[in-house]
Amino acid sequence: MSQETSSHMDPTESWHSFTEWSDKSVGLTWKITRMIESVTTPYQRIDLFDTVGDGKLLVHDNAVMLSERFESQYHDALVHSAMLACPNPRRVLIIGGGDGGTLREVLRHSEVEVACQVEIDAEVVRIAKDHLPTMAIAYDDPRADLIIGDGMKFVGDAEPASWDVILIDSTDPIGPAAPLFEEPFYNDIKAALTDDGVMATQVACPTFYADYFITLVKRLETIFSMVRPYTSPVQMYPSGVWGFAVASKGQDLVQIDEKRAALIEESTTNWTRETHKASFAMPNWLRRRLG
Ligand code: SAM
Repeated sequence: MSQETSSHMDPTESWHSFTEWSDKSVGLTWKITRMIESVTTPYQRIDLFDTVGDGKLLVHDNAVMLSERFESQYHDALVHSAMLACPNPRRVLIIGGGDGGTLREVLRHSEVEVACQVEIDAEVVRIAKDHLPTMAIAYDDPRADLIIGDGMKFVGDAEPASWDVILIDSTDPIGPAAPLFEEPFYNDIKAALTDDGVMATQVACPTFYADYFITLVKRLETIFSMVRPYTSPVQMYPSGVWGFAVASKGQDLVQIDEKRAALIEESTTNWTRETHKASFAMPNWLRRRLG
């Protein structure tokens, strides 16, 4: 989310630092041992670093996408609650998510017949396949269908009611991802969802970017009959707590299939039925502002 970053070299040690500033006074800093790749594509600058303690760190346009150490916190949170709120998630569409972590989590669900991923930037997928094997692991699954293209256009052209679950795993709302946080895209998502379908998206940090979090949730509420914001610990992002939202045309978003959930819980790193319930709890000031 932050566009301000800084780096620093300590002459007494063999690491640089990379800081993503959350606001004018608070930032999150990693000790960097080397730059593995830095490429500029038509869509973004992509940097991949090695860190002292968090494994590889993927950064797009100076915003941290993931660290190997904590990526599962984000991917578990985006995927499993939506998948388990949908009664039969056979056809799943992922927008963005080029690192492959969301696809990996989706394919844990045995009901999935097709997991189509639309990523705009082929270089992100290439870098993940070359350097992030624990995330790019799912691209060889026969149920996975990777399309390099614009998710906005793909959803706009989708057959009505053709997807059971749609997951928006995009970069922050700048550049090619900006339309993925706007009303026309959300309207197209609604049209593309089956009647009992469920969508999930990230909606920024509820503390540092509270206004934006609330704006996005209210925007979703003008379009979908059911919307539930939730939060989850994501230590690689500003404040360590990240915001998400699930939405549907009427499908309940809190009740999940216990049997399927128990099975998923056996293999996830973070997600459990308990974290699912807890994720909908909001601090009082935010509850008031959300109305
Ligand atoms: N977890 C990450 C975060 O929120 O910081 C997102 C990770 S994933 C790498 C985001 C992906 O969205 C990027 O690879 C980017 O290329 C892709 N993306 C951005 N705009 C897009 C669009 N319009 N259509 C499809 N993919 C898009």
